[in-house]
Amino acid sequence: MTDRIGCCISGCGRTFKREPGESETTVVMCGRHWRMGDDGMRKRHKQLRKRVRWFERKWKTRRNAIERAPKVWAKFHRAWERACAADHALWHRIKEDVTIKVAFGAEDAPRRRRKELA
Ligand SMILES: [Zn+2]
Repeated sequence: MTDRIGCCISGCGRTFKREPGESETTVVMCGRHWRMGDDGMRKRHKQLRKRVRWFERKWKTRRNAIERAPKVWAKFHRAWERACAADHALWHRIKEDVTIKVAFGAEDAPRRRRKELA
């Protein structure tokens, strides 16, 4: 295990310092590539991150109360897991989006939206 993590977009040479506690499976994307991702998806991802942090905060500050009520805790835990899973899935969709754009050298291309015919 090295102390550097490379950007997950192939061909990108940027690396980042591995933070303590980050596992070998940690995946990162550099800011330049991240910004190539679809705006809507990135906005949604930001919201999901906010939601995940909300659960983390509640877990820290209200842990005792949550643990005293097992049913509440079970619900809390499931909702937390769903938020993490959604966050994770969306991250990978953004990665997919960027990978395709990089593969086709589309980073500087204007945004074009195909019109759907009704
Ligand atoms: Zn990169």
